Amino acid sequence: MIPNCKHTTELMSQGQDRALTLTERMRLNIHLLLCTRCRTFTQQLSFMRTALRRYRDGA
Ligand SMILES: [Zn+2]
Repeated sequence: MIPNCKHTTELMSQGQDRALTLTERMRLNIHLLLCTRCRTFTQQLSFMRTALRRYRDGA
């Protein structure tokens, strides 16, 4: 029951807008453990969010 990369990135972007269920988060984490590509994507995503927040807060 491990989601593929497409499903995983979809879940991650949905996670920006709504709270994921426990099952969704578990699947996401399992996939991230196994998949380097999605780990890199997550890091980029959180970097972008941080940068965006800084920009918005005027820091
Ligand atoms: Zn993946």
